[in-house]
Order: sequence, then C-alpha cells, then structure tokens
Amino acid sequence: MTSLLSKMSTVIPAVLLLASVIFIPVYAAAPCSCADISNIKHRIEEAQVAIHTLETQIGFIDPVTPTREDTYAGLQGLLQAALNTANYQTSAPGLGTAPGQRGPAATLGDCSMVFSASASPCMLAVLKAHEQVHADECNRWKSVWNLITPWQYNLTLAQFARHEASSYRAELIYIDTMMQAAGLYSCPGMAPSPPVAVAIELKPITESIGNASLMEEFEVMR
Ligand SMILES: [Zn+2]
Repeated sequence: MTSLLSKMSTVIPAVLLLASVIFIPVYAAAPCSCADISNIKHRIEEAQVAIHTLETQIGFIDPVTPTREDTYAGLQGLLQAALNTANYQTSAPGLGTAPGQRGPAATLGDCSMVFSASASPCMLAVLKAHEQVHADECNRWKSVWNLITPWQYNLTLAQFARHEASSYRAELIYIDTMMQAAGLYSCPGMAPSPPVAVAIELKPITESIGNASLMEEFEVMR
C-alpha cells in the first residue's frame, strides 16, 4: 500500500503536468473578442491581397535586383496600389500608424518592433505575429553582419517579396489559430459573404526588367 501510494504520488503530478500541457489553451487569455471581428476581417483581407500581389510580382522581378531604397519603395508602392484598389477598403479603422512609420507596425533597423499606440490589444497581437517574422530575419542578419546596412538590404528584392508574403501568412495563421481557440468563428459578422474582385496592376520594379505590364483580377473572400 505504501509503495502504491508513493507510486501514485509520482504518477499523479506527472498526469497533472501532462494534462496541463495538453489542455491549457494556446491563447489562455485570448486578446480578441467578437468586438474585434471587423478589424480582424480587414487584416485578413489585407493579408490576402498582399500575399497574392507579392507572390505574383516575384515573377516580374529580376532575380539579381537588390533590395535598396528605390526598389523597396517600388515594391511597397505596388503593394499599396493593390491595397488601395477602388471599392476595396483594407485599412482597419482606427488602427493608426506606428511612430515615424506609414503603417501600424514596423521592425526597425535594430530589430525592435514599433506599433501604433491606438491599436487594440487584439490588433497588437495580430500585428506582432507579422512583425515577429521580420524581427527573426533581422536578428538572423544582425548576428552575421551586425547590421551595417538595413536588414532588408541583405535580401534580393525577390527574396524580400517572398519574405513579406511569409509575414502575412504568419499573421493569417495566428488569426486562424487564435480565432479557433477563442471560438470567434461563431461571432456575428463572421458569416461568409461573396468574394470581391480586386484588380492589381503588375509592373516591373526596375528598368532592367523591361516594360511588361498587365492587369490581373482575382477574388478575395470577405
Ligand atoms: Zn511586413
């Protein structure tokens, strides 16, 4: 009996430990609720448009084109144009901009992340899932070069486009996992509505690529 008890006293904590590992939700304190659904849907739309634009644009970028101030601005300009497509609203209302930045979040040259002060805890968590991919890439280069140049400049433009698309994918994965864990798919307003057609203009980033340009239409789920 004594030995059984002593065995049990070893087994029970082990079972409890295992149970806590299995049953504690990934997002114990979910930062989002049904009140955030509208903002979350905007971010999903933005990520869908951005991923499609970036991954399609990669085919138009010369593999040796570096990421530099002008080529980076060119890529960001195309992305913004796609996001600004008529009848298409992707900016989450009230998200604001991070200090000194054009968007609500950014990963700076020293790999630190900055966020808009007006972003809710939910949006902060979503934005952080995206910026963390940038910060990880930044830190990878920091250890190699100690960041003599901006971290983005270590990548070719095509690599950067792929990296940016990965950041948006990480954001979508975070949103999906968090929404499932917090049961947010049953929130009012989450019912699927018809896809909306988005037109984006694809064009080369630098003169060296040529003058190919075309309009493409695709659909995103809203
Ligand atoms: Zn990004």
